[in-house]
Amino acid sequence: MSTTSKYGFATKAIHAGEEPDFREGATGDVVVPIHLSTTFARKKVTEPTGGYEYTRSLNPTRKALETKLASLENAAFGLAFSSGLAAESTILLSLLNPGDHIVAFDDLYGGTKRLFNHVFSNFGFEITYVDATDASEVEKAIKPATKLVWIETPSNPLLKVSDIKAISAITKKHNLVLVVDNTFLSPYFQKPLDLGADIVVHSSTKYIGGHSDVLGGAVLLNNETYFERIQYHQNAVGAVLAPFDSYLTLRGIKTLALRLEQHQRNALEIAHYLEQHPKVQKVIYPGLESHPQHALAKAQTTGLGGVLSFEIKGTTDDAQAFLSKLNIFALAESLGGVESLIELPSLMTHASVAKEVRDKIGITDTLIRVSVGVEDVKDLIADLEQALA
Ligand SMILES: *Cc1c(COP(=O)(O)O)cnc(C)c1O
Repeated sequence: MSTTSKYGFATKAIHAGEEPDFREGATGDVVVPIHLSTTFARKKVTEPTGGYEYTRSLNPTRKALETKLASLENAAFGLAFSSGLAAESTILLSLLNPGDHIVAFDDLYGGTKRLFNHVFSNFGFEITYVDATDASEVEKAIKPATKLVWIETPSNPLLKVSDIKAISAITKKHNLVLVVDNTFLSPYFQKPLDLGADIVVHSSTKYIGGHSDVLGGAVLLNNETYFERIQYHQNAVGAVLAPFDSYLTLRGIKTLALRLEQHQRNALEIAHYLEQHPKVQKVIYPGLESHPQHALAKAQTTGLGGVLSFEIKGTTDDAQAFLSKLNIFALAESLGGVESLIELPSLMTHASVAKEVRDKIGITDTLIRVSVGVEDVKDLIADLEQALA
């Protein structure tokens, strides 16, 4: 099954990259084996067996995952990394030079901002943050040194939506690379490359892996020149996904479509429940009609995912007391697993973002982020009910 196969998403999620091998001596496994070997023997000096030499450069289990991920994002090429941040770092190292300027969304994952502000800025990269929900703000920030635009939609934790098509028209006009972090919706609900993005990046730790048991990242793209540069740097710096982790991720992906349908159904029901609760100030979920970009969100996706945020009335102490009373929701960072997770961004995921910046973009001290899992929704609502009471 090639990455450009016309099969539907769920079929590709199960089969792409894992076609049984019927060659002489092969065993026809329907699940790709975990190839733990770090090195691969060859018969002749100049002929690596099957193209395999050393696992950092190429590994059969990782390659199966890369093929599957590429097919799901409608990409020609895919690379699997040891974490989302390893994937992000490798993109930046591969495509930029000191002195280059990046325009980035002001509501990015906290770790991405830390990488930009405290790591890459030390190497002479300059970053300007803008409110990318208004595409014209992206264009206004472009300078002669700008090389790349980096967005995340829906964003984290405020679930702001930016218009991928409109921003890609701007990046094409100015000859810039558009990177979209597609972690929150996964390719099941959103395909940024089809909307004009040049590169999709994922933390596959989240929905793609889906079971909170494997860290990983991915880069998917169609541009062969960028692919070769990123692949070269991935091997050179060594930020690859291990064979066992590749297998776990492959296994997780097989139920991506099923899981996301249930995440979304539960999230919408919880969003409606919270919206009418007297102790809740406001609920932010792109699937709600009250979301300021509900129409855009619906237009550029096939679903709105399982993450929502809400503000509880009162102080940070009230928010913390509520969180401590929950039984089913785990008070934990991260998102995208089958289990429901809940957290306080100002003190947890976004604690590394300066308070002035948090206040400016709306990450208040009572903002709570929920990654709605796939449990029975009546149990989740009952848990919220008793903790709010
Ligand atoms: C978690 C996350 C990352 C970082 O990925 P790791 O796998 O934790 O390195 C990047 N972007 C988003 C949106 C994330 O949620």
